[in-house]
Amino acid sequence: MHLRPLHWLFTGGQLAVAVAMALAVALVFHCARSDQARPIRQAARSGAATSGPAELVAAEAGVAPNPTGSGAASSAGAPSARGQPQGPVPATSEKPPVKQAPEEKPLTWERPRFQERKAERLRMVAGQIEARGVKDGAVVEAMREVPRHRFVPDNRQGAAYADGPQPIGYGQTISQPYVVALMTELLNLKPGDRVLEIGTGSGYQAAVLSELTPCVYTVEILPELAQQAADRLRKLGYKTVETRQSDGYYGWKEHAPFDAIIVTAAAGHVPPPLIEQLKPGGRIVVPIGGVYETQDLVVVTKDMDGRLRTRSVLPVTFVPMTGEVQKEK
Ligand code: SAH
Repeated sequence: MHLRPLHWLFTGGQLAVAVAMALAVALVFHCARSDQARPIRQAARSGAATSGPAELVAAEAGVAPNPTGSGAASSAGAPSARGQPQGPVPATSEKPPVKQAPEEKPLTWERPRFQERKAERLRMVAGQIEARGVKDGAVVEAMREVPRHRFVPDNRQGAAYADGPQPIGYGQTISQPYVVALMTELLNLKPGDRVLEIGTGSGYQAAVLSELTPCVYTVEILPELAQQAADRLRKLGYKTVETRQSDGYYGWKEHAPFDAIIVTAAAGHVPPPLIEQLKPGGRIVVPIGGVYETQDLVVVTKDMDGRLRTRSVLPVTFVPMTGEVQKEK
């Protein structure tokens, strides 16, 4: 057999290809940790957050919408580095050296695509989600793409696109499609935003989030569900989602701070570690209320000075958040 000398690996052209590939990988996994200098072009999004969930039908258990909950305008994101005021102009006739801004590149990452049961998904989106006022184009598109039937037990696949929550075992449920879409819209995500989900469950909500940003971190307290969801997400090709089995009360410090946090189990209050792990300018979407009663779907925003504001969007019914939050007063 003819062996080629090893130095062929380092010919100029191949080295260039290797460097280009390394850069592409870095781009795919760039998840902005700071609010500044995010080199990401925002994906085209058609319209702002929903303006009127109050007129919409049901929450999880078909409860009446909150008549006062019409203030679902999207929260403002952090200012971009390009929006900063300019410094003083130097007093010289010579032109100062021009620092070229690096060319902005769109963030790209792999997102699996499924034709199976596509017609059912399109009907679900038109009839349950767009019809109730979810307008964000990227969110609507995500709901059209993620194969919800692959996140429910085999014997429930036929009901996966129905207008309600579905059992996923261990006494837990995958939320109603409309609630998944609404909560996702309220997070107001841009590609490159870091988002933390508490309550992985089936992994469906995490998959929907991963259509909008490659930086999705999700935590599940029940070991069996955490393992199943991790396997399912990997097998389906949602490779950018990072999963962990732990009590979401404590967030996920190693990946903080987050632009957005979504809690998909009901808590009596927002766990303080989640507030700490939220960036200034960020938001938490969480059902707040007692167990076995209707809760309020709440958006908590942290302004640039760290001040919190809370607004109530819709009555909902979620399974309870367990662990530390139930012990705390
Ligand atoms: N988002 C899920 C559904 C959530 S059901 C989906 O798309 O399928 C609520 C989940 O929250 C359950 O799986 C429950 O086990 C989990 N959970 C409850 N308390 C939790 C806690 N303290 N930390 C993390 N997960 C929790």
